[in-house]
Amino acid sequence: MGPDSELAGRPTRVDIDLGCFRRNVQAVLNRLPEESKLIAVVKADAYGHGAVQIARECERLGLPMLLVVLVEEGIALRDAGIEMPILVSAALSSREVLAAIRHDLTLGVTTTEMLRHVINHVEDSNIPTKVHIKFDTGMGRLGILAEEIGDVVTLLASSNLVSIDGYYSHYASSFLADDPLTDEQDVHFAEILETMRGHGLEAPTHHIASSAGLARNLVSHGAWVRAGLSLYGCEPVEGSGSRLEPVMRWSTRVASIKDFPTGHRVGYGRTFTTACPSRIAVIPVGYADGYDRRFGNNAEVLIRGRRAPVVGAISMDVVTIDVTDIENAAIGDEVVLIGSQGEDEISADELASRIDTIPYEVLCRVGKRVSREHTDASRLTNQTDD
Ligand SMILES: *Cc1c(COP(=O)(O)O)cnc(C)c1O
Repeated sequence: MGPDSELAGRPTRVDIDLGCFRRNVQAVLNRLPEESKLIAVVKADAYGHGAVQIARECERLGLPMLLVVLVEEGIALRDAGIEMPILVSAALSSREVLAAIRHDLTLGVTTTEMLRHVINHVEDSNIPTKVHIKFDTGMGRLGILAEEIGDVVTLLASSNLVSIDGYYSHYASSFLADDPLTDEQDVHFAEILETMRGHGLEAPTHHIASSAGLARNLVSHGAWVRAGLSLYGCEPVEGSGSRLEPVMRWSTRVASIKDFPTGHRVGYGRTFTTACPSRIAVIPVGYADGYDRRFGNNAEVLIRGRRAPVVGAISMDVVTIDVTDIENAAIGDEVVLIGSQGEDEISADELASRIDTIPYEVLCRVGKRVSREHTDASRLTNQTDD
């Protein structure tokens, strides 16, 4: 809800700093070889950052293409007025392919079956369509296998309305330092490109690396890159000399504080008992907002510039924190779940490692009922979104 609403009050919010996002884009562009280009990955609501606002920023920055996974995600961007090319990378049904073509989305063709759907619809509608074709070079997931190239060539020969704008693949382990699979995938991909060239089916672009591959300098001259995570300010591999800034800041405010004697239990299942006289604060956020239940007794938040432990179980709508050591902690104090406050910072990486997951999951699970506020300090504008 917007600031004018009578109930503008829910203090649990995510602030997205578009200035940070722009600087991250620039940092990522600086890592690219000359002649290479960046496809900005904005699937899953731009990893929780608000796909429309992030896409607008990418359009202003003149990036060549966005990537989404759902056709609905692509259509929502078109409905919001985004005009730049949008690649939909998924195994789409016939109906989804048709919807994508009608909304001028670029199809990332990931199966031979899907290529059949594309050709059928394109021939029916007589609309020329450009596609990117994905090959499986070792991931064992989506993508056409080298063995299927014969079928692909035959299918493509049956339509002169479908043209190939790019070939792509996906590294399975580029975030690991020495997995030989990465080199094997490079070799395999090069062979496939050569085979397609041999069939007279050259494409102007190809891409295999995402954020991790780029951070490891695996991008060949002229190849494109599909990056998500690093644009949002997380380093995909350790020790790449981070110059990226977290774009998301997730905060709330203290709703209630109580003093308890030693031995008082807190929350469902009494998983926490005070070891001394304690002040326990309640913050209005819970697993329904994407704050994982496994953070119970297992995470910290920032309040008054200092760390306070999360104590007790995470409920659907509330979390309890121990503010005994936070001087003057009071109702209404800002509490930061992800982001910085004072000198300290809680990163998506830190939260991910506490619950044995990856920052991708922490970011994209921040729930729909948390309002997103997009700010842009350097442009001195403040766009508020419902
Ligand atoms: C999500 C996704 C990416 C982005 O990966 P990051 O690690 O976030 O850079 C790249 N390519 C495809 C096909 C994806 O689905």
